[in-house]
Amino acid sequence: MDDVVIGLEVHVQLNKLNTKLFCSCPINYHESEPNTHVCPVCLGMPGAMPVVNREAVKAAIKVALALHADIQSFTVFDRKNYFYPDLPKGFQISQYDRPLAWGGYVTIEVDGEEKKIALKRIHMEEDPGKLSYKGSITTARYSLIDYNRSGVPLLEIVTEPVMHSPKEARLFLNKLRIILEYLDVFDGSLEGAMRVDANVSIKGGGRVEIKNISSFKGVEKALSYEITRQRNLIRRGRAVRRETRHFDEANNITVSLRGKEEEQDYRYFPEPDLVPVYTSELLEEVKGTLPEMPEEKRERFIKQYGLSDAFAKVLVLDVKMANYFEEVASVINPRLAASWIVDVLRGELNYRSWDFGMAFERLKPEEMAKLLKYFEEERITEKGVVEVIRTKLDEGGEIDEIIEAKGLFAIPKSEIERLCREAIENNPKAVEDYRSGKKQALNFLVGQVMKATRGRADPGETAKIMKEILG
Ligand SMILES: [Zn+2]
Repeated sequence: MDDVVIGLEVHVQLNKLNTKLFCSCPINYHESEPNTHVCPVCLGMPGAMPVVNREAVKAAIKVALALHADIQSFTVFDRKNYFYPDLPKGFQISQYDRPLAWGGYVTIEVDGEEKKIALKRIHMEEDPGKLSYKGSITTARYSLIDYNRSGVPLLEIVTEPVMHSPKEARLFLNKLRIILEYLDVFDGSLEGAMRVDANVSIKGGGRVEIKNISSFKGVEKALSYEITRQRNLIRRGRAVRRETRHFDEANNITVSLRGKEEEQDYRYFPEPDLVPVYTSELLEEVKGTLPEMPEEKRERFIKQYGLSDAFAKVLVLDVKMANYFEEVASVINPRLAASWIVDVLRGELNYRSWDFGMAFERLKPEEMAKLLKYFEEERITEKGVVEVIRTKLDEGGEIDEIIEAKGLFAIPKSEIERLCREAIENNPKAVEDYRSGKKQALNFLVGQVMKATRGRADPGETAKIMKEILG
C-alpha cells in the first residue's frame, strides 16, 4: 500500500470546558433543547463582539504540548469566509497563517513497530451549528439547524500525508483519542466530539477529500472504499478527479459532493474584532498541569507494581482503566489486580459496550479489591469471581450477599477433608480398587465429594486431599 498516501484533518471538540470559544454560552448542548444555548455572538448577529475564552486557549496549549508541537508565541484568529446555513455570519473564526502550533507527532504501534505520525499544524476554531437531515444528506428534502453547537471550541489537528493504510489512520485516531482523554479536555463518548476529514490519493491520481466522518470505524471504511474506487479508475485508464466526497455511513460508500475548493476561495483575513493572543504566560500556567501521559504511566506501572509490559500496555490504553487499576492495586496484589482487570473485567465491559466509567459505577474498585481478596484467600473459586463480576454489572447488589445467595463461598479445607474420609468409609470397594492400581477409582471417590457439595468443591484440590488420605 506504499502508493497510497493518507492525511487526516481531525476536528476535536474541547468539550469538557464550560463555555464556548467566544461567548459565555454553555457548551453542553447534547442534552438540551435545540437553540437554547445561544446569544448574539454565537448566532453571528451583526455587531456582536467575540471575546476569546482563556480556558479554551489553555486547553488547546495543553493538547499542543502533549503532541510535542511547537507552540507559537504569537497566534492570530482569522475569518474563513464561506456561506453555509450552519454559519449565519458568513464566516468561521479560525486560524490561517499564524496557527497556535506547528509540527508535533503522535506515536503509534503498527504490527509491533513504533511509528511517529508527523503533524503539520494545530489550530483553534469555532464549531458551526449542527444541521440535521431527515434521512440522509443526499436524500433529505429539508434540514433543521441547531445553533447550540455554534461556537463550541474546536481544535483542528492536521497530519502530514504520511499514513499508508486505513489501519494506520485508525491507529492514529485511537491514540489521539487516548491522549486527549488523558488531558481531560475531551470526552470522546459524546456524539460529534471528533470529526475527521480524510485526504487520500494513489500515486498518479488526484487528491480526494472525504468530509466529516464521525466515527473511527467510518474513517477506516471510507478510506478502504475510496482506495478501491480510485484503484479501479486507474486500472481502467480513467483519471481520479480532485474533489470532495461525502461518506455515506449507511451504505459504506463515498459520494461526490463538489470539486475541491482552493484555499484562496475562502478569502482569509485576520479577524478585526479579536486581538492576537500572546501565549507565553498561558504556556507557563499550563506546563505545570500536564498530567502523566500514557507512555510515562506504562513505565511507572512496570516499575512500581512489577507488572509485565503486556499488562501495563493494555492498562494505559484508557485513563479510566488505569485509575481503576491503581485503586484496586492499592489494596491487593497488583499483579493479581492487573490480570483480572485486563483479562476479565475489560472483556465483560466490552461485551456490554461499556467503558471503565461504568465499572466505577457498577463494581467499585474497593468492591473489586474485596472480591479478589476472597479469591486470594481461596474463599471463592475463579469461576465464582467471574459470576460475581457479571452479577454486579448486570444486577448490582452487595458482594457478600451475592456470594451467599449463589452459594459461591468455597468450602473450607477441613470440610473437604471430612467429606473425603466419609467417601472412603462408605466405599470400601472403590478404595480397594484404587489401592490395587485402578487409578480411575479415585475419580469415583472425588465424585462422591462433588455430589455432597453440589459441585462447589474444587475437583483438583479434592483429588489431592483424597490421595493424601489414601496414602
Ligand atoms: Zn453564545
